[in-house]
Amino acid sequence: MNRFCDLALPCISQLHPYQPGKPITELQRELGISEIVKLASNENPLGPAPAARQAIMAASEDIARYPDGNGFSLKQALSTKYGISSAQIILGNGSNDVLELIARVFVSPQDEVVFSQYAFAVYPIVTQAIGARAVVAPAKNYGHDLHAMAERITPRTRLVFIANPNNPTGTWLKRDELESFIQHVPDHVIVVLDEAYIEYGDDGQISLDWLAQYPQLVITRTFSKAYGLAGLRVGYALSHPDIADLLNRVRQPFNVNSLALCAAEAALSDEDFLFRTRQVNTLGMQQLQTGLAQLQLETIPSKGNFITVHVRRNGEAVFNDLLHWGIIVRPLSNYGLSAFIRISVGLPEENARLLTAMEQIV
Ligand SMILES: *Cc1c(COP(=O)(O)O)cnc(C)c1O
Repeated sequence: MNRFCDLALPCISQLHPYQPGKPITELQRELGISEIVKLASNENPLGPAPAARQAIMAASEDIARYPDGNGFSLKQALSTKYGISSAQIILGNGSNDVLELIARVFVSPQDEVVFSQYAFAVYPIVTQAIGARAVVAPAKNYGHDLHAMAERITPRTRLVFIANPNNPTGTWLKRDELESFIQHVPDHVIVVLDEAYIEYGDDGQISLDWLAQYPQLVITRTFSKAYGLAGLRVGYALSHPDIADLLNRVRQPFNVNSLALCAAEAALSDEDFLFRTRQVNTLGMQQLQTGLAQLQLETIPSKGNFITVHVRRNGEAVFNDLLHWGIIVRPLSNYGLSAFIRISVGLPEENARLLTAMEQIV
């Protein structure tokens, strides 16, 4: 029992913290083994882009100085790459930071936030941290049911979170359906389109083009996944300049550190790395799908760098068994998917090790 719970805001004392993937070093300490494969946090199995590592080395000379609090150079690079103005960009300490800022700017404790069942775990956390009401729309085939979500919008709704592709299920929305949803959302609602995995799937330009037409749209993206910079923490939101201006007022003055700024800018122009990343993911996804199908295990079709598997047993138990094989995956009982595990796509040899272990376990 925490003796300060009575003093804390009720919305905080009832909050369950985010459960991250188990770190490799933690399993090493627990089992005393060194050859560990982590397929738990949708990280890039190729590591960081080589250009990003070089940029970090160069930038390390300057870390006695504060970072550029406006992230001028990275915003400029994003602006050029995506053809939108720098005034439409806000940077965050991971896109998680940005998701939190959006909720803080637009949602009060009297308000409601709509998101889908099985959507990203950060949405309920940022909603509850404010003391606002989370309105959860039932999923359809493990993905977002936009119809069910639209039906749950009320005069109190301030924010809708949509992850496309979704984590942890990998499901994705048809672009017409998504555009029609955004188009019909009432004026008092902000739509956050979380595109953390967009680089693995469809053409990322389509949703960016919507920004000019739908001022309530906020697109969030990250350098944590395809760009291989999860440990640096850098993400961003693209929106109407007036929304960016509001978000800019509440963020910490130096929310993105100088190494992250330089590395992200370098990674953005490393097209070759992104190409190889997609290639490794496509092949690894095929390898996992084929191998899991041979084990008669059903999977949810995914456009991310991960696949969610029905293990026909308790997912936590399978997760624990895999730990003894030196493999870390993600159990999903906190998402209400207790017979599933989520597996990030790894290198060919990592995927093979996972499949060998799964054959023994299930
Ligand atoms: C991983 C992920 C993020 C972003 O994480 P950051 O590392 O904070 O940028 C955001 N949304 C979804 C759906 C994710 O899976």
